[in-house]
Amino acid sequence: MPIYEYQCGACGHQFEALILPKTTGTACPECQGTELERLVSSFAVDSETTRKSNLEAGRRQYAPIRKEKQWEQMKYEQRELKEHSEG
Ligand SMILES: [Zn+2]
Repeated sequence: MPIYEYQCGACGHQFEALILPKTTGTACPECQGTELERLVSSFAVDSETTRKSNLEAGRRQYAPIRKEKQWEQMKYEQRELKEHSEG
């Protein structure tokens, strides 16, 4: 289970906590403040971010190819239609 580091915005206290849904309201153990900043130095966060950005980069590369194929298909269908109507 991933553990994230947080820093309290009120007192600056740093602590580790399991990632929890926002609705549960994680609070600072020192001052019970809820202005928490998640620190992104964690290895788990880094690998997750890298994995996601790689996935998105792959999608971005793939998207134009699909669009091009759809365009070719559309042009082909139009040509077929035209030929049939003329012939
Ligand atoms: Zn605090």
